[in-house]
Parts: sequence; structure tokens; C-alpha cells
Amino acid sequence: MIKNKKYVMVYAIDRCVDCKACMVACKAQWQVPENHFRTHIDEKYSPGKYAPNRKYFLPSQCNHCDEAPCVSVCPTKASHKREDGIVYVDRDICIGCKYCIVSCPYDARFFNEEVGVAEKCTFCLPWIQQGHQPACATTCLSNTRIFGDINDPNSEVSKFLAEAKRNKSKIWKLREDLGTEPNIYYVQS
Ligand code: SF4
Ligand code: SF4
Repeated sequence: MIKNKKYVMVYAIDRCVDCKACMVACKAQWQVPENHFRTHIDEKYSPGKYAPNRKYFLPSQCNHCDEAPCVSVCPTKASHKREDGIVYVDRDICIGCKYCIVSCPYDARFFNEEVGVAEKCTFCLPWIQQGHQPACATTCLSNTRIFGDINDPNSEVSKFLAEAKRNKSKIWKLREDLGTEPNIYYVQS
């Protein structure tokens, strides 16, 4: 049986240099309003083996959760989970109640005052339907962002994750304890 596509993103965070080209590309691609971004880069520190702190950069965006609170609280079903794994907001039926914004534990959504709807990352849905990669992944010169179908064993994401497992790299998702089943993978060697 042919499995549905399931789109995910992998962040190879050792590669991120905090250039923020992804943030700018996303904003330009989707005319994201002033003072808002659909993706972020945060500066983090972890205890190093030989030095007190090791700085690294942590990208984030909507996790396209399998058990998404934003979907279950939406009174109009504007926020919904597609068969390809993308959590999407149908602007035509969003009433701007903001329940989804409040319910998201990842702070991945914001209110677009210009059009009166909830907004977030869509994995560049209209763009990927034309066979392109999301704007952030295309723009990332260090190839930190790897996007694709995790149900296809030959996709770049599947191969990258398989190799990371073989190399015993650290692989995690954000706040898995919440039961939201996020679909953004973080990999650190
Ligand atoms: S990260 Fe937030 S907005 Fe995205 S699917 Fe999960 S709960 Fe919804
Ligand atoms: S703001 Fe829109 S997408 Fe969010 S819960 Fe309300 S109707 Fe649904």
C-alpha cells in the first residue's frame, strides 16, 4: 500500500550560523506583516565538556503537530491537519477568535491584523505543491533546514535521519512531553 506523504523538517543545528536569511526569505515570500515572523532563530547555551558554555542557534517554527491543540480548539475547523501532515489555516473560514494562538505551546502563531486571521508557517504549501522546497530551506546556505517526506525512505530527510541515528547523533523534538507529537526534528552531533 502506498503511504501518504508526511512532510517534516529536520534542523541540523550544528550548521546554523544565525544569519537569519531563512527568516527574511519567509517574510518576503508570504508578505508576513511588520513585527511578526513565521520562523525564529534563538541563541542557546549548553554546558560544554571542556568549556563552561557552548553557544548554538535554535531555529523554530510551527511543528505541524500530529496532536495539535490549535486544531482541536478551533471552532470553525479553519485550523486543520491535512493528509500530507501540514497543519493549515483556511483564511476563508477563520473568524479571528485567537483560540489557536493561545493554545499553541510553541508560540508558533500570531494574529495578522491586516487580514484578521491567525497565521503561522505552512511549510510554504502553495510553493511545495509546485515542486519547490520551502523558502527557508532554499535560502539556508548552510543547509541547516532539510525538508521532505518522511514516509519516503529515499527522501533527503529520511536519509539524513537514518545517518544521524547510525552516527548516534542527538535527535529530539521540542516539548515531546506535552503529547503534541511535533514533526520538527532537531539533530546535533
Ligand atoms: S506548533 Fe503550535 S501552531 Fe503548530 S501545529 Fe503545533 S500547536 Fe499548532
Ligand atoms: S483564530 Fe481562526 S484558526 Fe484560530 S481558532 Fe479562531 S477560527 Fe480557528
